[in-house]
Amino acid sequence: MTAVLSLLLEQGRVDAVVSVGFDPDAPLSPRFLISRTTEELRAKAGSVYCHMRLSGLEQLVVSHSQLRLAVVCQPCHVAAVRKLQSSRHSHIQFVFSFFCGYNMEFEATAYLLRRLGIPQDEVARIEYRGGPYPGGFQATRKDGRVSGFGKECYELVNLRFLRKGCGHCRLYMGEGADLALGDAWLRGRRNLNVALARTPLGLECLRRAVQAKRIDLYRLSEQDLVLMHLHNLRYKKYGHSRFMRSVLWVLRDFLPEHLIPFGLLISLSRLRRRFKIGIEAPELVPADLPTNAASPEA
Ligand SMILES: Cc1cc2nc3c(=O)[nH]c(=O)nc-3n(C[C@H](O)[C@H](O)[C@H](O)COP(=O)(O)OP(=O)(O)OC[C@H]3O[C@@H](n4cnc5c(N)ncnc54)[C@H](O)[C@@H]3O)c2cc1C
Ligand code: SF4
Repeated sequence: MTAVLSLLLEQGRVDAVVSVGFDPDAPLSPRFLISRTTEELRAKAGSVYCHMRLSGLEQLVVSHSQLRLAVVCQPCHVAAVRKLQSSRHSHIQFVFSFFCGYNMEFEATAYLLRRLGIPQDEVARIEYRGGPYPGGFQATRKDGRVSGFGKECYELVNLRFLRKGCGHCRLYMGEGADLALGDAWLRGRRNLNVALARTPLGLECLRRAVQAKRIDLYRLSEQDLVLMHLHNLRYKKYGHSRFMRSVLWVLRDFLPEHLIPFGLLISLSRLRRRFKIGIEAPELVPADLPTNAASPEA
């Protein structure tokens, strides 16, 4: 996502990007921020697994109404951003979103810091996808020491902090955005995203990024896309399974924090990731994009 957005800035197609990051003086409070340069944008790369309020996004867009913007937002914000786009209070040119299984309130981050034994006032920086792919929760202390958990280690743990609204959300693949990005869960392959162009404009962004050699694109069949994300698609369509509902009830509504079986949940997350998530990687075949991707037929 950062590669495609950077190109929009460099090619002068937008003046700035609105996305989520951290102010250096508030390293625990993610917020919507403006990036006018690729350096500023790169500093915000990485998923922030913390629910963001729409009001912060709206205020920022309206207060920068003179700028041509690309906006990155949660799928549940896309409709509101599209509304802003058609109002005279903004010059939004592109709307990017991501696949969003579920999200948490900040309390999930606070819990992980407690598990690491790091007081909040000692934290200089947090990352939710820090380190080598797929990354994980990493906290850097003010004295430079880094500690954390692998991504797979806090997936089930996060269910304790699942935001109620996210538990009922049916959106998953950046519905309504120009471009939606997700993880490519291919066994044995790392560092790959799924890119879903949802409008001719989104497709054109991908085409330009390939032409500029910022990204490589490979074909992915619809069936493989669905299989790769089946665990989340099933949950989005039908809700949690009976088993997961029980786990959720025990974790969220029943157990006090000190009784959360952290180690057990980590082991279950690892097993789930190994056996339930992802598909065997198909051969990577470069994708052919139509030359005029912005045409309605593309
Ligand atoms: C809350 C959340 C849940 C997700 N759930 C899934 C999932 O279930 N399955 C899946 O395949 N992928 C999921 N993703 C998407 C995945 O983690 C990556 O964001 C996506 O693949 C794009 O990766 P990238 O490396 O290309 O993005 P990057 O190049 O790292 O760029 C990410 C951009 O998104 C912005 N951003 C980060 N967090 C937020 C946020 N909360 N709100 C708005 N903008 C933000 C950053 O500022 C940055 O500009 C989720 C992401 C988030 C934030
Ligand atoms: S799960 Fe749904 S409601 Fe929650 S942040 Fe993602 S898109 Fe928004």
